[in-house]
Parts: sequence; structure tokens; C-alpha cells
Amino acid sequence: MSRIKRALITGSTSGIGLAIAHQLAVAGTDVVLHGLESQEDGDKLAIAFHNQHGVEAIYVQADISHPDNIDAMMSQIKAQVGPITILVNNAGIQHTAPVEDFPPHKWDQILAVNLSAAFHTTRLTIPAMQAQGWGRIINISSVHGLVASVHKAAYCAAKHGLIGMTKVTALELAAKGITANCICPGWTDTPLLVEQFKAYAQDNNTSYEEAKQGLIKAKAPYPDFVSPADIGQLVLFLCSDAAKAITGTSMPIDGGWTAH
Ligand code: NAD
Repeated sequence: MSRIKRALITGSTSGIGLAIAHQLAVAGTDVVLHGLESQEDGDKLAIAFHNQHGVEAIYVQADISHPDNIDAMMSQIKAQVGPITILVNNAGIQHTAPVEDFPPHKWDQILAVNLSAAFHTTRLTIPAMQAQGWGRIINISSVHGLVASVHKAAYCAAKHGLIGMTKVTALELAAKGITANCICPGWTDTPLLVEQFKAYAQDNNTSYEEAKQGLIKAKAPYPDFVSPADIGQLVLFLCSDAAKAITGTSMPIDGGWTAH
């Protein structure tokens, strides 16, 4: 049976998710793009993907902080293009505050998008992967799935939780041709970090650009951001046949951050 290679990449209209989608499409994978952008803008992006890479590309819009929306999204994808065999749970949000000041609704929102959404997409994708006898589940965790930083209680809880869920998924599916792994990036220059750059600049009385360098130096020996395209390359490798025995892992791509 020829293997269907069709990837859903959540949160793929910007940043890391968009880069992952490009790398998968360059390699000939059909892609389902996803995000909060309007259907019109998303459709334009999907057409650009098709024109640039020659793959089948569609866009689905869904706020995945609600399980019902995820159910509807997964049904829509199945009806529109067919089974997903590569699932990249990438969508994520951030909010920083000391624990005692952390707004409870922000906690709930971060847990819903960064952790629970991945549970729902995973449970709804496994049957199709099992039917194909092949699948790749790749969860974009973070260095904050491995270590902590102040003011990131919800983000660290969600990203640590994602690693735990991924390990269980890997154990359950290891004998079925399906792997599940986490990728744990360090600082990557995307819209997710804008508020942190601004806060650092204000707190340290520096420019926005100096703030970027300051944040890198504060955490990682490698003197630059992680490249989103490099994260995409790691996803591609995990999708390759050579990675069939890599499962249940959490791979840092963090400039040495977690080597401390
Ligand atoms: P980003 O803001 O560019 O991308 C986040 C994506 O998630 C966007 O496409 C956004 O539309 C989507 N999203 C957010 N809330 C959503 C919701 N409720 N419903 C549907 N989609 C939603 O940021 P990024 O840095 O590319 O983040 C991608 C992933 O990488 C996240 O999980 C993030 O935690 C993780 N990560 C980022 C860094 C970094 O330094 N940027 C480091 C480690 C891990």
C-alpha cells in the first residue's frame, strides 16, 4: 500500500508552524494549514503553497481553545482531503506574570491551547494513522517543557505536560508504525516573543534590538536565535524512515540552553 503523506500543522500561519509547513511541502507532503486568520487570507496562503511547492494545500480556521471546534475541524479535514498521517501540534500562546498575579483565565487559555488541544487532535488522528499502519505525531514543546523560567507557570505546566502526554502516546503506539516525539526549541524570533522583547527593553532601559540580544545571552551559549527553518528540518527528519525507532523523546534545539 502506498503511504499517504498528509500533514496537519496547527498554528501554521506564522512563525515556527509556517516554517515547518514549508519544509514539509518542499519535501512533497500535502499540507493542511491552520490558524486564526480569516478563511480568505488562509485560502490565499494555501494557494501560494500549492503554487510554490506543487502540493495539495488547504487552510482550516479554528480556535482550538475549545474541544468542540477541534472536533469540527478534524471532521472537516477528513471530509475535505482525507486522513492525516503527520500531525504537528504547534499552536501555542504565552503570558508572563508571577504565580500570585497570574490571571486564572490566562492559565485556562494557555492550558487549553498549548496542552489540551494537542490531546484532542492526537486522539482524533490516531485511528486514521492506525488504519494506514504509519504515522508521525510531533509536538512542539519548548525548553520550558524541560526547565523553568520565572513568570511562566502556565506555559511551563503546559509544555511539561505535553512531554508527558507524548511519552504515553509513544508507548501506546510504538508497535503500530506510529511515533510520537516532542521538539523543544529555545529562543526563536517569532511574534510569540514580541511582548517579552518589549518587557525586557523596558525593564533594562535598552532598545528593542538590544533586548533580543539580552534575552539570548541570559539563557543560551549559542549567540543567536534558533532558525524556524531548522526546526522544520528536524520535523522532516522525524518523519523520515530513519527516525522510525525514535519515539517518546523530547529533543532540544535550544543553542545549549538546557545543557547548563
Ligand atoms: P507564533 O505566535 O508565530 O505562532 C503561534 C500560532 O498559534 C499562530 O499561528 C496562532 O494563530 C496559533 N494560535 C494561537 N492561539 C490559537 C488558538 N486559540 N487557536 C488556533 N490557533 C492558535 O509563535 P511561534 O513562536 O511560532 O510558536 C509556535 C510554537 O512554538 C508554540 O507552541 C510555542 O510555544 C513554541 N515555542 C516557541 C518558541 C519561541 O521562542 N518562539 C520557543 C519554544 C517553543
